[in-house]
Amino acid sequence: MATISAKSTELREIREKVEAGERLDLDDGIALLESHDVLELGALADLARRRRGGTDDVYFVNNLYLNHTTICRVKCKFCAFARTSKQADAVIWDIDELVAHAQQVQEHQDFTEIHMVGGENPHLDFQYYIDITRALKAGLPGVDLKLFTASEIHHMTKLSGLDHGEVLDALIEAGLDTLPGGGAEVFAPRVRKIIAPGKEPGEYWLRTHRLAHERGLKTHCTMLYNHVETYEERIEHLLALRELQDDTGGFMAFIPLPFHPENTVFERRGWKFSTGQDDLKMIAVSRLMLDNIEHVKAYWIMISTPLAQVALSFGANDIQGTVVEEKIAHAAGAVTPTEEKVEALVRVIREAGKVPVQRDTFYNELRRWD
Ligand code: SF4
Repeated sequence: MATISAKSTELREIREKVEAGERLDLDDGIALLESHDVLELGALADLARRRRGGTDDVYFVNNLYLNHTTICRVKCKFCAFARTSKQADAVIWDIDELVAHAQQVQEHQDFTEIHMVGGENPHLDFQYYIDITRALKAGLPGVDLKLFTASEIHHMTKLSGLDHGEVLDALIEAGLDTLPGGGAEVFAPRVRKIIAPGKEPGEYWLRTHRLAHERGLKTHCTMLYNHVETYEERIEHLLALRELQDDTGGFMAFIPLPFHPENTVFERRGWKFSTGQDDLKMIAVSRLMLDNIEHVKAYWIMISTPLAQVALSFGANDIQGTVVEEKIAHAAGAVTPTEEKVEALVRVIREAGKVPVQRDTFYNELRRWD
């Protein structure tokens, strides 16, 4: 009983901080994750969101996912997407064919954003990345280009001999509009050593986004949870993002991504999918800790549409997008359909008692369903 009452006191103290608009610290974040009172966490997150001006608007974007290549040299242990060049299903898109494909999709799906990431393919040169960016911009005018993780930017520094800022400058000149948040995983070196030993340290991810923000790009941030990380390492990751955001204000949205073990080495070790309780906690705790990042996404591809709908009462205010042709999470066993049409997203949001707002990449409102 003493433990329960100590935990209740902790949550009460955190509620007082939230009500007073005070910033939460590392210990608060750990206490929140350790709590089983998920309804109180949701209530606190919703309170924090509304205190900062959040309304019932819930955003989504009509977007197209592309993967220019599945070949990757890095071999992250959590990845079910990467292929070697010798594997029969390895992919490298020809640039003209990729643009033609996207144009074809656009004829029946009027997307406003392309989200494209890929493996760190040693057989492509830096010019390929410039050319593909330029070709997508020219072939799909008006579509926002959200391309390449910070890890891919790091890979491009190796290919080109340029530094991270110079790579970004060249991509921006070719038409890059924003960076996705992928590649962040968990910043703690202990965790990266276990799950992604071939990937550069987390500082590179942070530095790349800082450089992007300094160049006027608004970007996205993520965390991949539910593997070897501790609660402390999760909160430290969030605090590193919050610190960078204090300096630059360049993040538009945070997306918590649960690790899916299927088709990875971790599946053979008996690792499990995240539970609904943990997914809801992560949404709520992200909303509470990241007091300076405006939007938290409930990424339905990873957590399922029904849970994403519930997450809208736990601090999330964005349900991602129509996501035609998602491949990365599905390679790791996501059982969600690979596209959700606008009408389906509108229904999910409405039935949560919220107002669906279709946005562009930069949260400009395109259409609302009051
Ligand atoms: S997560 Fe990215 S960098 Fe790691 S193996 Fe997969 S494709 Fe390569």
